[in-house]
Amino acid sequence: MLDLESIRLEEEGKKVVYRFSCDKSISRYFSKEKTLWVDYDTDVSAVPESLLIIPFLANVLPVSWFLGFDVRVREIDREYHRAIEKIKQIFEQHYSLKGGNLHCKNIIANKVDGSRPVVLFSGGVDSHYSFTGHEAENPLLVTIHGADIRVADNRQFRVLQSAIEQSALVRGQERHLVKSNMRDFYTYRLNLLFDDLDWWGRVQHGLAITGLMAPLSWTHRVARIYIASSTTSETDAFWGSTPLVDNEIKWAGTSVVHDGYEADRAEKVGALVRYAQERNAGLPLKVCYSSRTPALNCSRCDKCCRTILLLILAGADPSRFGFRTSERIYDDALANLSNGYSSQLIQYVWNIVLQQIKEGGRPFIFKDEAAEREKLAAVARAIGANNNRTFTKLSAARKFRYKMQLKYPAAFNRIASLYRSLGPE
Ligand SMILES: [Zn+2]
Repeated sequence: MLDLESIRLEEEGKKVVYRFSCDKSISRYFSKEKTLWVDYDTDVSAVPESLLIIPFLANVLPVSWFLGFDVRVREIDREYHRAIEKIKQIFEQHYSLKGGNLHCKNIIANKVDGSRPVVLFSGGVDSHYSFTGHEAENPLLVTIHGADIRVADNRQFRVLQSAIEQSALVRGQERHLVKSNMRDFYTYRLNLLFDDLDWWGRVQHGLAITGLMAPLSWTHRVARIYIASSTTSETDAFWGSTPLVDNEIKWAGTSVVHDGYEADRAEKVGALVRYAQERNAGLPLKVCYSSRTPALNCSRCDKCCRTILLLILAGADPSRFGFRTSERIYDDALANLSNGYSSQLIQYVWNIVLQQIKEGGRPFIFKDEAAEREKLAAVARAIGANNNRTFTKLSAARKFRYKMQLKYPAAFNRIASLYRSLGPE
C-alpha cells in the first residue's frame, strides 16, 4: 500500500509538495524522501484537491500497476477516475501488470469550462510543429523542466529557455514553466523492469507530462492539451505516449490530444522550414539532450544528424535552425550509421531520411555541390545496408553502469562528474 500523507502548498501557493508513505516491500523503488513536487509559475492554491492530486496520481499509479500495490488518496476528479481505469486496461493489453488498485473516499465532479488550449512545448521538431498547427487558437506554451531535461540540469534548461525567448516565432505567446522532480522521486529499480532500462519512455512520460497540466487547466481555464506525437501509425511500438493512451486522458471537461500523429518527421521538418521561410526567421530547434554539450544541440549525435539531414534535404541551412555544422555532417552521419540500429524506431526514422534522399529535390549545399551529393548517396547506401543488419543490443557496459548506479549512487555520481569534467567523450 502507498498512502498520500499530505499535499502542501509552498512558495506563495506555486509549489505543490506531495508526501507519501509506503510498505517496506516497495520502499526501495522510491527515493528516500518519499516526496514528489511540482513547481508552477502560478499560484495554484485555489485548485480543488481532486484536481491538484492528478500530477501525483499520473506519476504513481503506473508504478502501482507494474509492481502490484494499492494507492490510497482522499479525493479524485470523477472524469479522471474513469479515464485512468480505462488507461490501465490499455496498458494491460501491452504489458503484464501485477494489479494495483486505487482507493479514494470522495469522487468529485469538477468543471473547468475552458476555452484556450495548451501546447506542451519542449522546443523540438514535434512541439514546434504542434505550435504552428494550433497558433490560431492562441495557445499557452508550457515548457517542463524535469522531463527531457533532468531537473538537476540547470545549464541545459537555461540554454533551451534563452532559445525560446529569442525565437521570433513564439514571441508574444503566453508562456509558462513547470518544474518537477517526477523523474527523480523513484529509483533506478523501475528502469530495471525493462531490457532497455527506459521506464520514462516506455511508461511514464505521456501520463506524467499531461497530468502536470491539471492544476494549470483550472487556473487558466484550459480546454485541451496538445501533446506532440513523436511517432506515426507506421511505427507500431507501444510507448508511454500514444494516441491510444493520451486521447483517453481527461479531467473536469479538459481533454488531452495526441497531436501531429499524421505527419512523419520529414513532413514536420518540411512544414517548419516553409513556416520559417515565409516569416524570414530562423527557428532554434532543441532536439538533442546530450549532456556533453553547452550548445542548444551537439550537432553530431544520431538524432542531431538525422534532423540536420532532413533540414538539408528540405533545402534549409541547418545553422538557421539551432545547429552548428558544415559539410562535416555527412561523415558524422556515416560514423553514427556504422554502429547499426539499436531499435525498430531508430531504423524507421533513418529510413525517412533515405526516402527523402531518394525523392531527390534541391538539398542545401554548404560548399561543393558535386562532393556533397556524392556524400548524400553514401549516406543512402549506409542506411540501406543497415536495414539488413540485426539490431544492436544495449551494451553490457551500459547495463553494468546502471546497476552500479543503483547499488552505489554516491560513488557513481562522483565518478560521473569526474568524467564530465574531463570534457566531451
Ligand atoms: Zn546531438
